[in-house]
Amino acid sequence: MPVLTGFPISMYIFIQNAKLKKTSYELTEANRLLQIRADTDSMTGLLNRNAFLEQVKHANKNCTQAALLVIDADNFKNINDLYGHHAGDKALTAIVSALRSSLRVDDLIGRIGGEEFAVFLSNTEMAEAQNIAEQLRKSVEAINFTPLPDQPYPLTISIGIALSSGIVTTAQVIRMADQSLYQAKANGRNQVVLNQQSLSHNRNTTG
Ligand code: GH3
Ligand code: MG
Ligand code: MG
Repeated sequence: MPVLTGFPISMYIFIQNAKLKKTSYELTEANRLLQIRADTDSMTGLLNRNAFLEQVKHANKNCTQAALLVIDADNFKNINDLYGHHAGDKALTAIVSALRSSLRVDDLIGRIGGEEFAVFLSNTEMAEAQNIAEQLRKSVEAINFTPLPDQPYPLTISIGIALSSGIVTTAQVIRMADQSLYQAKANGRNQVVLNQQSLSHNRNTTG
Protein backbone atom coordinates (compact mmCIF):
# COMPACT_ATOMS: atom_id res chain seq x y z
CA MET A 1 0.00 0.00 0.00
CA PRO A 2 1.43 3.40 -0.91
CA VAL A 3 2.54 5.42 2.11
CA LEU A 4 0.33 8.36 1.11
CA THR A 5 -2.92 6.32 1.48
CA GLY A 6 -1.69 3.81 4.10
CA PHE A 7 -0.93 6.43 6.73
CA PRO A 8 -4.33 8.18 6.73
CA ILE A 9 -6.11 4.79 6.87
CA SER A 10 -4.00 3.65 9.87
CA MET A 11 -4.70 6.97 11.60
CA TYR A 12 -8.43 6.61 10.90
CA ILE A 13 -8.47 3.06 12.40
CA PHE A 14 -6.46 4.22 15.41
CA ILE A 15 -8.88 7.08 16.14
CA GLN A 16 -11.96 4.88 15.69
CA ASN A 17 -10.48 2.29 18.10
CA ALA A 18 -9.79 4.98 20.69
CA LYS A 19 -13.39 6.24 20.35
CA LEU A 20 -14.77 2.69 20.78
CA LYS A 21 -12.66 2.14 23.89
CA LYS A 22 -13.92 5.41 25.39
CA THR A 23 -17.57 4.54 24.63
CA SER A 24 -17.15 1.08 26.14
CA TYR A 25 -15.61 2.57 29.31
CA GLU A 26 -18.43 5.13 29.58
CA LEU A 27 -21.05 2.38 29.21
CA THR A 28 -19.41 0.24 31.93
CA GLU A 29 -19.26 3.25 34.25
CA ALA A 30 -22.91 4.18 33.54
CA ASN A 31 -23.96 0.57 34.28
CA ARG A 32 -21.98 0.59 37.52
CA LEU A 33 -23.65 3.82 38.66
CA LEU A 34 -27.09 2.49 37.70
CA GLN A 35 -26.47 -0.67 39.74
CA ILE A 36 -25.41 1.38 42.78
CA ARG A 37 -28.57 3.46 42.44
CA ALA A 38 -30.73 0.33 42.14
CA ASP A 39 -29.14 -1.18 45.27
CA THR A 40 -29.35 1.93 47.46
CA ASP A 41 -32.17 3.19 49.65
CA SER A 42 -32.40 6.84 48.59
CA MET A 43 -33.35 8.24 51.99
CA THR A 44 -30.61 6.65 54.12
CA GLY A 45 -27.95 5.71 51.57
CA LEU A 46 -27.96 2.15 52.96
CA LEU A 47 -28.37 -1.01 50.89
CA ASN A 48 -32.05 -1.61 50.19
CA ARG A 49 -33.73 -4.85 51.23
CA ASN A 50 -33.09 -6.81 48.02
CA ALA A 51 -29.46 -5.74 47.69
CA PHE A 52 -28.78 -6.45 51.36
CA LEU A 53 -30.29 -9.94 51.18
CA GLU A 54 -28.36 -10.68 48.01
CA GLN A 55 -25.05 -9.62 49.59
CA VAL A 56 -25.79 -11.55 52.79
CA LYS A 57 -26.55 -14.70 50.80
CA HIS A 58 -23.12 -14.44 49.21
CA ALA A 59 -21.30 -13.54 52.46
CA ASN A 60 -23.08 -16.26 54.44
CA LYS A 61 -21.86 -18.93 52.02
CA ASN A 62 -18.28 -17.75 52.41
CA CYS A 63 -17.86 -17.73 56.17
CA THR A 64 -18.18 -20.41 58.80
CA GLN A 65 -19.22 -18.14 61.64
CA ALA A 66 -21.34 -15.03 61.36
CA ALA A 67 -24.16 -13.16 63.06
CA LEU A 68 -27.24 -11.44 61.76
CA LEU A 69 -28.93 -8.60 63.64
CA VAL A 70 -32.46 -7.42 62.95
CA ILE A 71 -32.98 -3.93 64.34
CA ASP A 72 -36.27 -2.06 64.74
CA ALA A 73 -36.76 1.51 65.96
CA ASP A 74 -38.96 1.58 69.08
CA ASN A 75 -42.36 3.29 69.16
CA PHE A 76 -41.52 5.11 65.97
CA LYS A 77 -45.11 5.80 64.97
CA ASN A 78 -45.29 8.00 68.08
CA ILE A 79 -42.67 10.39 66.66
CA ASN A 80 -44.67 10.87 63.45
CA ASP A 81 -47.88 11.30 65.41
CA LEU A 82 -46.39 13.84 67.83
CA TYR A 83 -44.02 15.83 65.59
CA GLY A 84 -44.89 14.99 61.99
CA HIS A 85 -43.39 12.83 59.27
CA HIS A 86 -40.50 15.22 58.59
CA ALA A 87 -39.31 14.87 62.20
CA GLY A 88 -39.69 11.10 61.83
CA ASP A 89 -37.42 11.20 58.77
CA LYS A 90 -34.83 13.18 60.74
CA ALA A 91 -34.96 10.67 63.59
CA LEU A 92 -34.48 7.85 61.10
CA THR A 93 -31.39 9.40 59.52
CA ALA A 94 -29.95 10.13 62.98
CA ILE A 95 -30.44 6.47 63.90
CA VAL A 96 -28.71 5.38 60.68
CA SER A 97 -25.69 7.63 61.40
CA ALA A 98 -25.42 6.21 64.91
CA LEU A 99 -25.59 2.63 63.61
CA ARG A 100 -23.01 3.29 60.92
CA SER A 101 -20.57 4.88 63.35
CA SER A 102 -20.55 1.73 65.50
CA LEU A 103 -19.91 -0.76 62.69
CA ARG A 104 -16.69 -2.09 61.20
CA VAL A 105 -15.80 -1.52 57.54
CA ASP A 106 -16.67 -5.06 56.43
CA ASP A 107 -20.03 -5.24 58.22
CA LEU A 108 -23.08 -5.15 55.96
CA ILE A 109 -26.01 -2.93 56.85
CA GLY A 110 -29.29 -2.53 55.00
CA ARG A 111 -32.70 -0.93 55.42
CA ILE A 112 -35.06 -3.89 55.23
CA GLY A 113 -38.27 -2.06 56.11
CA GLY A 114 -39.58 1.42 57.00
CA GLU A 115 -37.93 1.73 60.43
CA GLU A 116 -36.26 -1.66 60.31
CA PHE A 117 -32.61 -2.43 59.58
CA ALA A 118 -30.39 -5.50 59.44
CA VAL A 119 -26.69 -6.00 59.98
CA PHE A 120 -24.59 -8.96 58.90
CA LEU A 121 -21.34 -9.53 60.82
CA SER A 122 -18.99 -11.86 58.92
CA ASN A 123 -16.51 -14.04 60.83
CA THR A 124 -17.90 -12.93 64.16
CA GLU A 125 -18.48 -15.13 67.17
CA MET A 126 -21.26 -14.87 69.72
CA ALA A 127 -19.61 -12.66 72.36
CA GLU A 128 -18.36 -10.16 69.77
CA ALA A 129 -21.77 -10.03 68.06
CA GLN A 130 -23.43 -9.32 71.39
CA ASN A 131 -20.89 -6.56 72.12
CA ILE A 132 -21.48 -4.93 68.75
CA ALA A 133 -25.26 -5.15 69.14
CA GLU A 134 -25.04 -3.58 72.58
CA GLN A 135 -22.80 -0.85 71.15
CA LEU A 136 -25.40 -0.14 68.44
CA ARG A 137 -28.15 0.03 71.04
CA LYS A 138 -26.13 2.44 73.20
CA SER A 139 -25.15 4.67 70.29
CA VAL A 140 -28.81 5.18 69.35
CA GLU A 141 -29.77 5.77 72.99
CA ALA A 142 -27.08 8.49 73.12
CA ILE A 143 -28.58 10.50 70.22
CA ASN A 144 -29.67 13.93 71.27
CA PHE A 145 -32.85 14.23 69.22
CA THR A 146 -34.78 17.46 69.71
CA PRO A 147 -37.76 17.59 67.32
CA LEU A 148 -38.79 20.93 68.85
CA PRO A 149 -36.50 23.47 70.56
CA ASP A 150 -35.86 22.41 74.17
CA GLN A 151 -37.94 19.27 73.71
CA PRO A 152 -35.58 16.30 73.61
CA TYR A 153 -37.16 13.02 72.61
CA PRO A 154 -35.47 9.69 73.42
CA LEU A 155 -34.65 7.38 70.51
CA THR A 156 -34.17 3.67 71.11
CA ILE A 157 -33.94 0.44 69.12
CA SER A 158 -34.58 -3.23 69.82
CA ILE A 159 -32.30 -5.91 68.37
CA GLY A 160 -32.65 -9.62 67.70
CA ILE A 161 -29.44 -11.60 67.04
CA ALA A 162 -29.09 -14.99 65.39
CA LEU A 163 -25.83 -16.79 64.76
CA SER A 164 -25.16 -18.35 61.40
CA SER A 165 -22.83 -21.26 60.75
CA GLY A 166 -22.80 -20.80 56.99
CA ILE A 167 -24.84 -23.98 56.64
CA VAL A 168 -28.05 -22.47 57.94
CA THR A 169 -29.83 -20.61 55.12
CA THR A 170 -30.11 -16.83 55.14
CA ALA A 171 -33.91 -17.12 55.39
CA GLN A 172 -33.58 -19.31 58.51
CA VAL A 173 -31.14 -16.90 60.17
CA ILE A 174 -33.39 -13.93 59.50
CA ARG A 175 -36.39 -15.82 60.86
CA MET A 176 -34.51 -16.62 64.08
CA ALA A 177 -33.25 -13.03 64.49
CA ASP A 178 -36.83 -11.81 63.89
CA GLN A 179 -38.16 -14.07 66.64
CA SER A 180 -35.65 -12.59 69.07
CA LEU A 181 -36.50 -9.06 67.99
CA TYR A 182 -40.13 -9.87 68.79
CA GLN A 183 -38.97 -11.07 72.22
CA ALA A 184 -36.99 -7.85 72.78
CA LYS A 185 -40.13 -5.83 72.02
CA ALA A 186 -42.24 -7.99 74.32
CA ASN A 187 -39.65 -7.64 77.12
CA GLY A 188 -39.99 -3.85 77.05
CA ARG A 189 -37.87 -2.62 74.04
CA ASN A 190 -34.44 -0.87 74.03
CA GLN A 191 -32.65 -4.19 74.43
CA VAL A 192 -30.74 -6.96 72.66
CA VAL A 193 -31.95 -10.57 72.62
CA LEU A 194 -29.83 -13.47 71.38
CA ASN A 195 -31.64 -16.36 69.71
CA GLN A 196 -30.94 -19.50 71.74
CA GLN A 197 -32.17 -21.78 68.97
CA SER A 198 -29.47 -20.41 66.68
CA LEU A 199 -26.82 -21.37 69.28
CA SER A 200 -27.79 -25.04 69.23
CA HIS A 201 -28.13 -24.87 65.43
CA ASN A 202 -24.51 -23.72 65.27
CA ARG A 203 -23.31 -26.35 67.73
CA ASN A 204 -25.07 -29.04 65.66
CA THR A 205 -23.76 -27.85 62.33
CA THR A 206 -20.22 -26.90 63.31
CA GLY A 207 -19.69 -29.93 65.56
P1 GH3 B 1 -42.55 -0.87 67.81
O1 GH3 B 1 -41.70 -0.41 68.94
O2 GH3 B 1 -43.46 -1.97 68.19
O3 GH3 B 1 -41.74 -1.21 66.59
O4 GH3 B 1 -43.50 0.36 67.44
P2 GH3 B 1 -43.45 1.26 66.13
O5 GH3 B 1 -44.37 2.42 66.36
O6 GH3 B 1 -42.06 1.59 65.76
O7 GH3 B 1 -43.99 0.26 65.05
P3 GH3 B 1 -45.16 0.37 64.02
O8 GH3 B 1 -44.96 -0.79 63.09
O9 GH3 B 1 -46.49 0.47 64.73
O10 GH3 B 1 -44.94 1.71 63.26
C1 GH3 B 1 -43.84 1.95 62.47
C2 GH3 B 1 -43.89 3.39 62.08
O11 GH3 B 1 -42.72 3.77 61.37
C3 GH3 B 1 -45.08 3.70 61.17
C4 GH3 B 1 -44.46 4.32 59.96
O12 GH3 B 1 -45.20 5.41 59.51
C5 GH3 B 1 -43.10 4.76 60.45
N1 GH3 B 1 -42.14 4.84 59.35
C6 GH3 B 1 -41.67 3.85 58.59
N2 GH3 B 1 -40.82 4.33 57.66
C7 GH3 B 1 -40.77 5.67 57.83
C8 GH3 B 1 -40.06 6.72 57.18
O13 GH3 B 1 -39.30 6.55 56.21
N3 GH3 B 1 -40.24 7.97 57.66
C9 GH3 B 1 -41.06 8.23 58.72
N4 GH3 B 1 -41.19 9.48 59.13
N5 GH3 B 1 -41.75 7.27 59.33
C10 GH3 B 1 -41.60 5.99 58.91
MG1 MG C 1 -40.71 0.00 65.24
MG1 MG D 1 -41.10 -2.24 62.35
